[in-house]
Amino acid sequence: MTKAGEKLIKAAGEMLAVARGEIEPASVTLGGRTSFHSETGTEGGYWAFQDGAWIKPNTTRFYCFKCNMYWDKSRDNKEPTFSGNYCQPGEHDFQLISKEDWDYEGLHLLEDGDELSVFDKGTTLWSGVIKLRQFPLFTENVFGFWIHSEQIDVDREWWAELFMTPHEATLRPKRKAR
Ligand SMILES: [Zn+2]
Repeated sequence: MTKAGEKLIKAAGEMLAVARGEIEPASVTLGGRTSFHSETGTEGGYWAFQDGAWIKPNTTRFYCFKCNMYWDKSRDNKEPTFSGNYCQPGEHDFQLISKEDWDYEGLHLLEDGDELSVFDKGTTLWSGVIKLRQFPLFTENVFGFWIHSEQIDVDREWWAELFMTPHEATLRPKRKAR
C-alpha cells in the first residue's frame, strides 16, 4: 500500500472513532466555561468545562419570588396550580431562574491530558495540561467543599476560584468525556 493510502486509512479510522464518540478529533478546540461540578452537593465537586455549544439562553424556566413556585413553560404551557402556601392564580411574580441553560451533554469532567486555558476578559489566567492528584472520598476540601482531586503544582484555593466562578475557557480534550 502507498504511504498516502495508509494515511487515508488511518484518518478514516480516527473519523470513525470520533463519530462513535470514542475520541475527540485532536485538532478540535472547544470554547466554553469553567465549572465546579457537583452532582448532589454531598460527594464533592469536579473540575469541569462546559462546552459553549451546549449553553443556551434560558427562556422557559421561571421562579416565583413571592411563593418559590417553579414553572418550566416547556413542560406546562399554563401556569401550574398547587394547593398549599402558593400565590393565588395571577398573583405570582415569575422571573427567569437563570440567564442560561447548561445542557449536561456539554459537560466535560477534566482529566489527565486535557489541555485547558482559562481567561478573564482576554487575559490568560492559566493555560496548561491537566494533571490531577486524586483523593479518596470525603478527605480533602477547598472552602469547605469536598473535592475529588487537585491540579498538581497549583495552589488549591487559587485553582478553585477559576472554577467556582465560571470563566471563559478553551479545552482540547484528550478524549471525549463520556
Ligand atoms: Zn407565587
